Amino acid sequence: MNIEAKLGLDVFKVDTEPHIVIKHEICQAKCQIRYCLNICPAELYTLDKQDEVQVNYEGCLECGACLMACEHEALTWQYPRAGYGVQYRFG
Ligand code: SF4
Repeated sequence: MNIEAKLGLDVFKVDTEPHIVIKHEICQAKCQIRYCLNICPAELYTLDKQDEVQVNYEGCLECGACLMACEHEALTWQYPRAGYGVQYRFG
């Protein structure tokens, strides 16, 4: 079984409160490189029509890579509330 198939078995219980919030005023003003667009293993970061970074927190694997990569501290990141988030099936 390859990694995509294993990840496909994960279950997400999506919270109505996002656990990742982008501080757009910092992101837009300071960041040119936008590491988040490439570092997220679930490819949850995208650019909208206004060239603004957006994140679809619903599929988050809770790895923390985006938080580490954001050199301008433009993310508010916390684990989902108890009972929500990803449930891994293969560790
Ligand atoms: Fe993507 Fe990991 Fe950040 Fe979740 S914590 S959005 S999976 S990089």
